[in-house]
Amino acid sequence: MELQILVTNDDGIQSPALEALEVSLSGLGNVIVVAPDREMSATSHGITLNQPLRFHQLAPNRYSVQGTPADCVILASLRILHRKPDLVISGVNRGHNVGDDVAYSGTVAAAFEAALQGIPGIAVSAFSRENPDFIEAAQVVARIAARVLDDGLPTDVILNVNYPETWNGGIRLTRQGRRAGKTVLVENLDPRGREYFWLHEELHAQRSEPANEPMTDFAAVAAGFVSVCPLQIDRTAHAYSNHFVRWMELLDLDRSAEPR
Ligand code: MN
Repeated sequence: MELQILVTNDDGIQSPALEALEVSLSGLGNVIVVAPDREMSATSHGITLNQPLRFHQLAPNRYSVQGTPADCVILASLRILHRKPDLVISGVNRGHNVGDDVAYSGTVAAAFEAALQGIPGIAVSAFSRENPDFIEAAQVVARIAARVLDDGLPTDVILNVNYPETWNGGIRLTRQGRRAGKTVLVENLDPRGREYFWLHEELHAQRSEPANEPMTDFAAVAAGFVSVCPLQIDRTAHAYSNHFVRWMELLDLDRSAEPR
């Protein structure tokens, strides 16, 4: 049976990156695009629960969904494909998803939705250019996708791939960094004289951190590498379990929780 590769994004069905991925992935299996009908950037892992979910078929292998990126993965598995795809590729996002961006990214969340369903997921983002064609990034994705189709991914782990502004030809295994990107509130007046606020992200600066190996996702793309960062569903702070065992002893709520 031919492999089914689901492509989605959070930039919306009109993104030229979808076509670039359709071309680059065509040798690996049957590519089906299921993407939001409008831009859904920064919607993270939201799903639509309080209104109907609809989709429209635009071409034999192309569907738009009135919903979020995670909705797209769910709807594709349960209804459009009538089975789970063998691989989910989310992107190529216009703009990097590194460091703190991961918390907000709909692109990354779609790959996590795949992982929640037991499907290998890859999120892909590229430096935001004026008129991006995403062709080079999509070709790199196809190479990574071929490896993942051969080897699979560890359970509950996705790959967060970022393509740099100008690629130096190298690829780095990275860890999720922290960016000191600052969200600011821009205040203004609308034409009717009412004040409004617009969230705006000021240019990111890298927070100084210890020069550990592996390098951060942010540092890798800044140096011209393709960044491949494995991320996992489990957010438990395992490194701090001892700290919290002591903390729980001090908290000492067990006694007061006993029935009286
Ligand atoms: Mn986006």
